[in-house]
Amino acid sequence: MGEKTPKRKRKPVNAWKFFEKKGDSAERVRKSCPKCGKGVFMAQHKGRITCGKCKYTEFESKKKEEPKQEEKK
Ligand SMILES: [Zn+2]
Repeated sequence: MGEKTPKRKRKPVNAWKFFEKKGDSAERVRKSCPKCGKGVFMAQHKGRITCGKCKYTEFESKKKEEPKQEEKK
């Protein structure tokens, strides 16, 4: 008998969902407003984040990855 039996293990289909958005950036972006408290997330903009509720703006501090090209002296 040349019977082919495919070895199919029961894989949890939902497993991939847990790894869908595990990027460190996705979670880091979600910063809650210090004024409104937790639950109110800041909106991400270029170089800054703002709160849509109280308009609180916080500039991103890039001390580590700051290219020294803006030296005007
Ligand atoms: Zn706020």
